[in-house]
Amino acid sequence: MHRITITTRSSVDFTDITREVQNAVKSIGVDSGVGYVFVLHTTASVIVNENADPSVVEDITARLDSLAPQLGNYRHREGNAPAHIKTSLIGNSVALPVEDGQLVLGTWQGIFLCEFDGPRTRTVLIKVIPDKA
Ligand code: ZN
Repeated sequence: MHRITITTRSSVDFTDITREVQNAVKSIGVDSGVGYVFVLHTTASVIVNENADPSVVEDITARLDSLAPQLGNYRHREGNAPAHIKTSLIGNSVALPVEDGQLVLGTWQGIFLCEFDGPRTRTVLIKVIPDKA
């Protein structure tokens, strides 16, 4: 298992962590299997989506804001209920195929750490489950 740390830049921030995750997978040294990426937080998520056109991320964050607006009638008194809701909608993990020691991603796909209550330092775990020999 490998652990990477990402410092986010603002309250809501999608950081492309594809290179860091690929480097972690390479260092694990499994040729073929399943790569598992897990975010250890309740107000940050991980997704695979387009990393070529930044307007895609802008559209995702705008739609999430309309689903869980900053001002609302929330019971959670910590003040970050929208961040918890967005994290629940997006999810805390992704699983991806590993071939030739690297995650397999489509041409336009990248892995994003999605910050919803930053800026903070976030921890992402990466594990590779090898194919049966
Ligand atoms: Zn909270």
